[in-house]
Amino acid sequence: MGYWSIPLEMITFLIFTDSCIYWIHRGLHHRLVYSTLHKPHHAYKVTTPFASHAFHPVDGFSQSFPYHLYPILFPMHKYLYLFFFVFVNFWTVSIHDGCFRVPDLLKPFINGSAHHTDHHLYYNYNYGQFFTFWDRLGGSFRDPSSYANNGPLDQILDETKMEEFTRKRLDFAEESLSLIQNPVKDLKSARKR
Ligand SMILES: [Zn+2]
Ligand SMILES: [Zn+2]
Repeated sequence: MGYWSIPLEMITFLIFTDSCIYWIHRGLHHRLVYSTLHKPHHAYKVTTPFASHAFHPVDGFSQSFPYHLYPILFPMHKYLYLFFFVFVNFWTVSIHDGCFRVPDLLKPFINGSAHHTDHHLYYNYNYGQFFTFWDRLGGSFRDPSSYANNGPLDQILDETKMEEFTRKRLDFAEESLSLIQNPVKDLKSARKR
């Protein structure tokens, strides 16, 4: 097969690996294996690029297996295989990096950082890798909270919410300080109550 088949290989590779990873990832959320194999990755509630490569070894192997299975089953140009090896690493980093910019036209179809951030926050939604197709079909699609300006970064950047958060932290610090300074008095008054 010549170079003319490369575009076809690219499309089928993306469809094949996206389909496999959706079901493998969904399987990793099964209660029998989740806590051992997949929970270490979900330790990151709000993700960073570092989370993209933080996996239990079996989890990392199973989710990358389809990328190596495809060239075993189907013809694929060796340089395309190498290109995708690099590309999927960049993609995995990109869906964990908290940068939610996707062209408006592609937003309904691309499983980007906004979708995967909600996967880390709400668990049973947006298992996809590249596309939203399987999540929509499998009933696990959730509109990203960041697209509705209600994502974790909006909570941080929202001034009123931030003020409330800071006030609560200050109240807590004051209470802790008073308990350290007057432990006996506070215990007595607590007992009276
Ligand atoms: Zn997961
Ligand atoms: Zn993740």
